[in-house]
Amino acid sequence: MTFRVTPVITESTRNLGKSTLYFFLTIAAIKASHSLYRCIRSLTMSSSSSSTSNSTADASTLRRNRILSSKLYFDVPLSKVPLIYSKAYDISFLGMEKLHPFDSSKWGRICRFLIVDGVLDKNSIIEPLEASKDDLLVVHTESYLSSLKSSANVAMIIEVPPVALLPNCLVQQKVLYPFRKQVGGTVLAAKLAKERGWAINVGGGFHHCCSERGGGFCAYADISLCIHYAFNRLDISKVMIIDLDAHQGNGHERDFSNDRRVHILDMYNPEIYPFDHEARRYIDQKVEVVSGTTTDEYLVKLDEALVVAGKMFDPELVVFNAGTDILDGDPLGRLKISPDGITSRDEKVFRFAREKNASLVMLTSGGYMKSSARVIADSIANLSKQTLINF
Ligand SMILES: [Zn+2]
Repeated sequence: MTFRVTPVITESTRNLGKSTLYFFLTIAAIKASHSLYRCIRSLTMSSSSSSTSNSTADASTLRRNRILSSKLYFDVPLSKVPLIYSKAYDISFLGMEKLHPFDSSKWGRICRFLIVDGVLDKNSIIEPLEASKDDLLVVHTESYLSSLKSSANVAMIIEVPPVALLPNCLVQQKVLYPFRKQVGGTVLAAKLAKERGWAINVGGGFHHCCSERGGGFCAYADISLCIHYAFNRLDISKVMIIDLDAHQGNGHERDFSNDRRVHILDMYNPEIYPFDHEARRYIDQKVEVVSGTTTDEYLVKLDEALVVAGKMFDPELVVFNAGTDILDGDPLGRLKISPDGITSRDEKVFRFAREKNASLVMLTSGGYMKSSARVIADSIANLSKQTLINF
């Protein structure tokens, strides 16, 4: 007897088969869609990350090309000393400069004191070029530079409200052109410092300005520009900013917030402008000196900070922001440092750079009293006497 096995396919088994088929088809479809999603996602992510890294590389190439084609670095004959100044630094027009507590012709007065005292020969001073728009774009954004075409914006940055009422061409010529000359001086100073060991720009030190924002009398970020030029043209990769102006240097702090090539030592009064708490996070060595700090207290803190700085970092270039608004009687700095204290301070920083075998750029930065020019000239004369610089 044989049995023929007749497949008995009932309605329910047919339905079960269909369901199983749908189940597997659905799973397969989900798997396929997940794979497709992962594939598309990874393609999108790789294209977005490559476009980000491409744009970073493009920005870096553009910056480098701008620096390489700049005219701000030029050869200076050895008959000149690395002290940089131009008559164009001094700001004066219609008496408006008197509305700001800043002595806006202090730069020329420093040089006159040095010449009259026989420390400096007038003909040995180096005149810098004006920073062009392309030079400024090395650090600044197009939109920030465009904002300076508004006199109202410039008035806010330099804190002289009546400037808002002037035609912008006048503001450019009488305020921004002098600043651009000083920027050219700060940039050139690094080249000269590399060649001669030191350089002084009798101006500059606009430490409140960063790539996209000015303020506190600072319209251009000359310190950031100087350092980017040094990175690209001087084969320098380690820079220390020693900012001893009374105010916090929030501009360069923001510009180099995540740049480990730059070590920032900032000694400032936390009770005065700019109260930039975000930028304070980017200071490598923060030394706060409260209102009323005396010369002795100040110099002890500086000595300690320089010892720590020397252990933390080996700079090839030191950018010394030597503001004199720490002077006793300065209404904005509110510290009580004597003129001799300024001389000692400057000498300590120059000795530090020499011990570290680093080139040094000094900028005069803030200093808001008529007496500042005399104090700076005396300090430079002392540096010469101590053979820390040679004229
Ligand atoms: Zn200051």
